[in-house]
Amino acid sequence: MPPLSKDFKDELRAKANASLQRHYKSLDDEAQNINHDLPSREMLASFTAHLRSSKRILVLIGAGLSASSGIPTYRSAGGFSRTFSDQQLATKGAFEDDPILVWQFYNYRRSQAKAALPNPAHHALAELAAKKPGLLSVNQNVDGLCQRAGHPSEQIINLHGSLFRVRCFDDACDYEEENYNIPIIPQLPVTEPPGVLDSADSRSATSGVSIDELPHCPKCRVNLLRPATVWFGEGLPEAKVNHLNGWLCGGDLETSVDANSAVQDKKVDLMLVIGTSATVWPAAGYIGRARKAGARLAFFNMEAKSAGVSRPEEDEWMFLGDAAELVPKALEGFLDGYGYVD
Ligand SMILES: [Zn+2]
Repeated sequence: MPPLSKDFKDELRAKANASLQRHYKSLDDEAQNINHDLPSREMLASFTAHLRSSKRILVLIGAGLSASSGIPTYRSAGGFSRTFSDQQLATKGAFEDDPILVWQFYNYRRSQAKAALPNPAHHALAELAAKKPGLLSVNQNVDGLCQRAGHPSEQIINLHGSLFRVRCFDDACDYEEENYNIPIIPQLPVTEPPGVLDSADSRSATSGVSIDELPHCPKCRVNLLRPATVWFGEGLPEAKVNHLNGWLCGGDLETSVDANSAVQDKKVDLMLVIGTSATVWPAAGYIGRARKAGARLAFFNMEAKSAGVSRPEEDEWMFLGDAAELVPKALEGFLDGYGYVD
């Protein structure tokens, strides 16, 4: 990772602006093409009947669940992509090179997530989890909205970590804690991060801050604390992956099974795939395993396009449109008059 020189950062801002313009245009284009027809009564009835009889339910959650809560999904016509700034700044190399800039970026992301509110889909899922003790959610979002909607914590794996947790930069030191400080330190105010807006403020915001002022690990007292999210180039946390494997093999979240274990998966009745294109690992892998374990799938997606494992099979369901609208709609037959309906 080369150092982020001023010229490079200026270039980054320009590219990010262009990328955001394309992003908004592609969202506009796509919005014109979305079929907003609500699912038919027959489709809802068959889904509700299967949901009623389902005990072991796997839920895979992606960015589309939080989109109407105001958390950007950075979706482009070619599938999921991140902003230029995200790819540049959400890496270990960027943090080593300029931890103040990276913390400024996370100040902004944390403030966006804190300002967002859980939408009806977050609430409906939390209610479903409470009524189905055999349900497990695998959350790829880091915004904390499922938790704020009251999703039972023992029934969710936050696969990509959380914006509101910090950990020691040194992987060998296992220190990690919750942290809701926005800004992370008072000396580093919340501003638009470089690369999202060409803002002179964002440059001046970091100029008076020294690395010594950033939060340090209270355990080893040597290293900086970093956001406890999975960055580009990092693997998924092994313990979380093993817990997910443990559940697939029939245990609860206390059960941990190594990914290479030969233990057979236990029957899964239903899998909900919400707001993720699910064409890449690990999502695609879990869809394949759930089907093999007997699951019927229900997809909730903005995109009509689907390919490979994320194409619904004959006895499966595809709910097309905004997850915030369709997830509660699909679950209401089971949840019976749950209070999110106006
Ligand atoms: Zn440490």
